Amino acid sequence: MSALLETAPRTRSLVVLTPMGVEARAVRSGAPWARVEQFGVGPRNAERSAWLAQDSASAVVIAGFAGALDDSLEPGDVVLASELRSADDTVECANPAILAGILRRGGLRVHTGPIHCSPRIVHGAARRELAQRGAIAVDMESSWIAGRATACPLVTLRVVSDSTSHELYRPIRAASGALAAYRSLRRAAGLLEEWAELLGERDVVLGAPRASCAGVVRAVDIVRGALAERGAPIYVRKQIVHNVHVVRELEALGAVFVEELDEVPHGATVIFSAHGVSPAVRAEAGERGLDVIDATCPLVAKVHAETRRFAREGFDIVLIGHEGHEEVDGTLGEAPERVQVIASAEEVVNVEVDDPTRVAYLTQTTLAVDETNRVVERLRERFPLLAGPASDDICYATQNRQDAVRALAGECDIVLVVGSQNSSNSQRLVEVAERAGCPAALVEHAEDIRPALLAGTRRIGLTAGASAPEELVEGVVGALAGLGPVTCAQRTVATETIRFKLPPNVARNG
Ligand code: SF4
Repeated sequence: MSALLETAPRTRSLVVLTPMGVEARAVRSGAPWARVEQFGVGPRNAERSAWLAQDSASAVVIAGFAGALDDSLEPGDVVLASELRSADDTVECANPAILAGILRRGGLRVHTGPIHCSPRIVHGAARRELAQRGAIAVDMESSWIAGRATACPLVTLRVVSDSTSHELYRPIRAASGALAAYRSLRRAAGLLEEWAELLGERDVVLGAPRASCAGVVRAVDIVRGALAERGAPIYVRKQIVHNVHVVRELEALGAVFVEELDEVPHGATVIFSAHGVSPAVRAEAGERGLDVIDATCPLVAKVHAETRRFAREGFDIVLIGHEGHEEVDGTLGEAPERVQVIASAEEVVNVEVDDPTRVAYLTQTTLAVDETNRVVERLRERFPLLAGPASDDICYATQNRQDAVRALAGECDIVLVVGSQNSSNSQRLVEVAERAGCPAALVEHAEDIRPALLAGTRRIGLTAGASAPEELVEGVVGALAGLGPVTCAQRTVATETIRFKLPPNVARNG
């Protein structure tokens, strides 16, 4: 284990720069511990203040009010800059995702995007033009400070005082907006301490392989391909893979996710998810005249085939897995009269069979390998002639990700697993790391990283479940870099080259 970080001095070395006295008062009132420097309004004052950021600050926050450019922003909303734009320059900002999460959980509405910096107040058509170019808010100072303060993370935190419908030159509305902005700025300043405690250098060790497996890539390609070929809407039964980001992205392209087939119009195209379906669901699709595209992972389909074979041969089948998981429901449905599901070695004692010499086991594809081996051992003690699959049901992707996470656990202060709560293989990665003696946590995305997870950590292990896309891992690395310098290394335990063919009724898109 690496030496833990010393966190105590960090809040003391945070510098908060504000243009106006009212903004400085809001920050001081929310964060009396902070070093707050008021430098005056506009570019000239901002440029003169640049020396403030060049001392030993661990981070600089430019805090104050801003005008909204995006119609969805309301007075009191917080804007964290992804970049600062001016007429002649663009300055990249430290990734503010972890701060955004802290502020959101603290009850604030937070938006992240480009802030345009203008030397004068921007009204009407000029605001709309800046919005069309992608900026979400406008201020009059930040880029002139940020262009010079590069030695430490710099965050621009602005609070909307006037929205696109209530601009500054409407005094009464502007006054109520300013009050909302003052309160939000004070609240945001109060929450800065949590973030400042996390500032510092970190080492990130990436597990490899990680993130999307071949079955997930295939399933997502199927939905994309169907949308490209047939146009929206394309219906998908259940989440195509267990990841909310993937689902949202496909929804934006025109996929409609349904829980059951009775939500799909007669004759429409429906895609079955990577987790597979039972024969009863296939039959129902036929009765409803649906045009089916099957995105069941071939490795899940293999377990279905084994279930049918053992059932045909008169075996009682013990399916090791989690009852209620879609994959288990689908496999169970192949021979419901012959299959019983157990999740742990302790449940072996409850298994009931007709003939103890004709018992077979199969497993969910995403289980923890070590736990599953214990269950199989216990089954074999009870049923010495236990039959099993020709090759492991726990798939290559699950095994590789678990081997990689074990390697991380031996050398990191914490392992972060990127994945959704309902992702079985991601949950198993957390458990494997914990069993190897390392604290671990499942995070949906960078904003989901709570300060308690990073407090006192220097070396962070990072991986992602088989249903999570790699860009979410990149987002977490970026977010950690927003707290201070980050070094990145990788522990590779296997190389994956597997790629599955698409079904004949859909073409690969791109
Ligand atoms: S985790 Fe394994 S079984 Fe599941 S979709 Fe990926 S490759 Fe297929």
